[in-house]
Amino acid sequence: MSNYKEKVAEILGRSEAPPLCFVHSFGCQQNVSDGERILGILSEMGYGVTSDINSASLIIYNTCAVRENAENRVYGLVGELKHMKEQRPDLIIGLCGCMAQEEKTVQKVKSTYKQVDLIFGTHALSELPRLLYDVLTTRKFVCDTEEHSEPEKEINAVRSSSFKASVPIMYGCDNFCSYCIVPYVRGREKSRVPEAIIREVRELSEKGYKEIMLLGQNVNSYGKNLDRPINFAELLRRINEIKGDFKIRFMSPHPKDCTNELIDTIFECDKVCKHLHLPLQSGSDEILKKMNRRYTAEKYMEIVDHARSKDPGFSLTTDIIVGFPNETYDDFLKTLEIVKKVKYDNIYSFIYSKRTGTKAAEMTDMTSDEDKSKWMTELLQTQREISTEHYKRFLGRTLDVLFDGESRHEGMLSGKSDEFIIVEAPCSDKSIIGQRKKVKITKAYNWALCGEIV
Ligand code: SF4
Repeated sequence: MSNYKEKVAEILGRSEAPPLCFVHSFGCQQNVSDGERILGILSEMGYGVTSDINSASLIIYNTCAVRENAENRVYGLVGELKHMKEQRPDLIIGLCGCMAQEEKTVQKVKSTYKQVDLIFGTHALSELPRLLYDVLTTRKFVCDTEEHSEPEKEINAVRSSSFKASVPIMYGCDNFCSYCIVPYVRGREKSRVPEAIIREVRELSEKGYKEIMLLGQNVNSYGKNLDRPINFAELLRRINEIKGDFKIRFMSPHPKDCTNELIDTIFECDKVCKHLHLPLQSGSDEILKKMNRRYTAEKYMEIVDHARSKDPGFSLTTDIIVGFPNETYDDFLKTLEIVKKVKYDNIYSFIYSKRTGTKAAEMTDMTSDEDKSKWMTELLQTQREISTEHYKRFLGRTLDVLFDGESRHEGMLSGKSDEFIIVEAPCSDKSIIGQRKKVKITKAYNWALCGEIV
């Protein structure tokens, strides 16, 4: 591949000023992390990076396929580039990411969006130099959605932050939850070798990064396809051994593979943040079965109880889908019951969105949209009441907070505590951004905490 990198660099080198690329990523953290790796590949070939789309000679939309409206938005943006392409025929327009991995997207683009020069799928990131070379030398439409399975390649990411970094540990998903398109566009689970992950984290630590987010569609089934398998808990322990002043987070675990060993490891490892995002989706076993989640509400609560047996105030967050096809109010009440029992610090909730190509999309749905939005309102109201009380447990405590920006409140900085809770503090010194500070909590709201830097 380095050969194509050199060839592209040679072509680009002929232009007076280094050409600029504009890469915009939609969707989940894994896709954003892929976007950073795409920028890494392009920079190695001589592209500069711009956030001004009008000055770019290469535009790439790194797409998301999780919901239909995400796709429509991309088609809208690509449509808007038609005129720009007519003005600048040398402009290269590319699509990648989950939406680009779908054959229906390729056909639609080929027939309707002729301004697009390049499509590459979720398994073809490292093929980008070859694909770009083909576009630059032939000026013909180039597409690659093959499942390339060469061994791991070290790709230097151009990261959007100098203190928080995402490190993918695996790609793909074998779970086939009935509402989810990810397994169809990201393929089967493939774990990166631990040595490569540890090398990447060590380099980030040496560069002074303060927070490492380990990424995977289902991190706790890490390692199954490795020649010398290790599980996720073992990987966490090894990363915890790396020297440096950084903390570890991970996204997303799946309750069906969540073990007491993993929970114990979170508590044993000083660098692992004391927070777990554990997607529930529904509290009804009937609905969980239809979702093909392969755990029950009881199994889910066993995980919660084990974590809370180690720390009654242990921070949990979750994902919830409201209004799955044919969900009844009784099913919904079972979800509400778990929400009241667990006392999450935050929930990420969505009204079910039909996704063509998934099993759930074929299910008839008698549940009315009116009921679904009524239940969503009830869920959010319940959660507001819970977090109003639950956040009070932090009053008077001192938390470790990584400040990551200015608050919308004048003179305040904002960050996240190890418990993954928003914390704001009065501070005019912006150099604090990117640093972890101790904050004494003085106020608790239902969405954030407030305190003094000590
Ligand atoms: S675990 Fe389920 S919801 Fe998550 S990516 Fe895999 S199939 Fe989708």
